[in-house]
Amino acid sequence: MEWKFKRADYRRPPVQLEHMDVRLAFFEDRVEGTGRLHCRAREAVREVLLDCDGEKVPYALDREYAAGERFTVDVAHTCHPDDRRLEGIYRDVTPPGCPQQYMSQCQQYGFQRILPVIDDCTAKCTFRTALEGDARYTHLISNGDLVGDTTADGRRTVVYENRKPMAPYLFIACAGTWEVLADEVEYPDTHRRIRLEYLVPPGHLDGARVPMDILKRSILFQHELTGFEYPYETYRTICMEKSLYGGMENTGNTTIITEAALIDETISDARLVYAHGVIPHEFEHSHCGSGVTMETVFDMWLNEAYTVNVERAFLAREFGQAFARRLEIDALRETGGAFAEEEGGAASAVVREGVNDPDEVVDAITYDKAPEVLNTLRSLIGAEAYDAAWREYFRRFDGGNANTDDFLALFRETTGRDVAALMRPWLFDAGHPTVTAKWSWTDGTLAVELARDKDYVIPVPYALVKDGKDVASGTFVLDGPRQVFSTRCPKPDFISWNRGCGFYGVLVAEATEAELALQARTDPDGGNRAEAMRMLRDKGATETWLALYAEIFGEAARCAAGNGGDLGTCAALLSIPADSLDRRRRAFVRENVREMRALRAAAVHKIGVDKIADSLAGSCVPRDRATANAAAILRRAYENCLLQLLAAANVPEAWAAIRAYLARAANITARLNALRALVASDDPVRCETLATHGEELRRSLNGYIGYLGVVASDPHESVFASIAAEEAREGWSIEHPALSRALYCGFAANGDRLWTDEGLAWLEATIVKYAQVSEYNAIRLLAPLMNWKWFPEELRAAADALLERASAALPFDRYPFIGGKLRAMRG
Ligand SMILES: [Zn+2]
Repeated sequence: MEWKFKRADYRRPPVQLEHMDVRLAFFEDRVEGTGRLHCRAREAVREVLLDCDGEKVPYALDREYAAGERFTVDVAHTCHPDDRRLEGIYRDVTPPGCPQQYMSQCQQYGFQRILPVIDDCTAKCTFRTALEGDARYTHLISNGDLVGDTTADGRRTVVYENRKPMAPYLFIACAGTWEVLADEVEYPDTHRRIRLEYLVPPGHLDGARVPMDILKRSILFQHELTGFEYPYETYRTICMEKSLYGGMENTGNTTIITEAALIDETISDARLVYAHGVIPHEFEHSHCGSGVTMETVFDMWLNEAYTVNVERAFLAREFGQAFARRLEIDALRETGGAFAEEEGGAASAVVREGVNDPDEVVDAITYDKAPEVLNTLRSLIGAEAYDAAWREYFRRFDGGNANTDDFLALFRETTGRDVAALMRPWLFDAGHPTVTAKWSWTDGTLAVELARDKDYVIPVPYALVKDGKDVASGTFVLDGPRQVFSTRCPKPDFISWNRGCGFYGVLVAEATEAELALQARTDPDGGNRAEAMRMLRDKGATETWLALYAEIFGEAARCAAGNGGDLGTCAALLSIPADSLDRRRRAFVRENVREMRALRAAAVHKIGVDKIADSLAGSCVPRDRATANAAAILRRAYENCLLQLLAAANVPEAWAAIRAYLARAANITARLNALRALVASDDPVRCETLATHGEELRRSLNGYIGYLGVVASDPHESVFASIAAEEAREGWSIEHPALSRALYCGFAANGDRLWTDEGLAWLEATIVKYAQVSEYNAIRLLAPLMNWKWFPEELRAAADALLERASAALPFDRYPFIGGKLRAMRG
């Protein structure tokens, strides 16, 4: 594979940046910048290579400087921010009547679009930054402590000093109009206080109250978990409306997209959970990222994997381990998830050899696979050794940089294990292992046989279950192609394998229909009950599956009525997705949708529309407004299963039940779920009902996003006209990342219409159109095609032709990011 940037080519710059004086003046149409770079030569130099807008520009020095000598370089640049390239300084949505709102995004290489610089993660330097702008701005923000604030002739100048060396990718310079919710948090042991500020769009102060509480809990949780104490006076959270990412940790000044940063009655359950993740995530970067910084973009997994695991620990505490873990596993398996990327050949290893665009590392491999790989490491070396090694990592590299080799060497030194050998394929190979498991029991001896398809050392957790109870549990470590483990014990009913996805990869267990049915009923692990149910479906054991489904429907109803049990597990068991656990079978995309429709219809037939409608009517959650209440979220997930069944029933009494639920629903997720079910049915008033709700939903950003998702999910042929109408609606723009993604990615997930000729033509045209605006966003539309090589023949030919034409329209030299991805997918 050829790459524009190769890991092997990376050299530490010969000049160390030590300090920068920056001055930026914001005007309506431009930002004028000047800077002085204070440098120290690492070796003899006559010139400095500066990064400027993607180019390396030589800057001749007045003489040769020997290693250790210091000198300065003066730079100047005027940038003309636009609405599309959301890096460097760019134009964000401006509140009415206010001066132009400017936001910045410097990761990966945005700083060099503001001013020429040594744009390298090792260029950790101190900053003195003066920002000048219209005096009507409520805020001119940069990193560090405020040391000056003056106004003259309608222009305001604010000066910041950042005294702790920081990499340029963490720099922020923004100018805008916000209201502030201020608070503080006190560390219980040292009693040090951190001032907290939440900057929100005017009129949205109330939406910051819950997030502020989440932030305070996050800070104390993170301190308890990692021992870290935040080193600055103030921690600011800033709402931004336009961004490719959910958030960005600009040392001390985290930016978060408004739809996740504010929590009010317009936030959906999925966003609410996301908000509980992104807040601790970005704060953790004060520690892992700002404190210890990756050495290069190729080490970004080190920044992210640890951080994601802190975020996950917080989510597990807030919502419960089972709930949080289910979401993580779904993300790994979903269309466009890490497994699919690997199977499609489009994924790189966690530690990449090269990239065509540095933003490539912001993907499922870095954010979903890398944390799993760390968990696999923890299983292999033990939690205690693992935690001790990380503590030493943060102690040793604090204030500096670390790369993958540093990480591996330190883990070897502190654990005494050859962690580099143990982790080699997990980190340096693309792909994941598949383990097959079978067992037998004779004369009091249990023999388990495990086999792997690739040369990985794999921890495989198991539990032996008898009469609904775990009688033994542990972890087999598989370090050969095929191994047999035997032990003397009473005969178990079944083995509950790999609970909570204990290693990064796929486990395929041999089990009989009777064993799976028993497991779906009695496994103490809810996640594996749901897995057994799906395996039964994959086996084609429809009768058994239907009988179980009806049983679980009853269990769920009792549970919803408050008679014990786990409603989250019931919802997982009752949902009938269009995909399969069998990775190969997932590629039968048309057949899978048809099978899902048939199973839903069969389930309705078995249970009866009346009973489903009664269960929905008896559930009371629609009245709840958005709350961070896991129980309420799980109940809505359960109710959504009922709504989907009613949509499948598709008879007037089912439509009436959906409409009655919609009428009672105050919570936005409940409303959106009901609308989605209605739109999926043939209810004659479905379009006007959606139109009426749309009027109101579009008044808030989150409501608008949710509405667009419903429009795009419509399984009727009219969906194409509806999408075109939304594109033409005033207020919608392809340049608005959240609104365009909601509509386009919403349709990419519409299995009923995507796989038609018209749907595929739409996909192709939209990929090409969207890539002109944002390659990063357009790549999301490739997700459904990721495993196209496994498609049935006719569809495979269509996908092949589509990808070929898209590649021709998006040539690699002009579109290295999506062009490279297309090349990898076709390769
Ligand atoms: Zn991050």
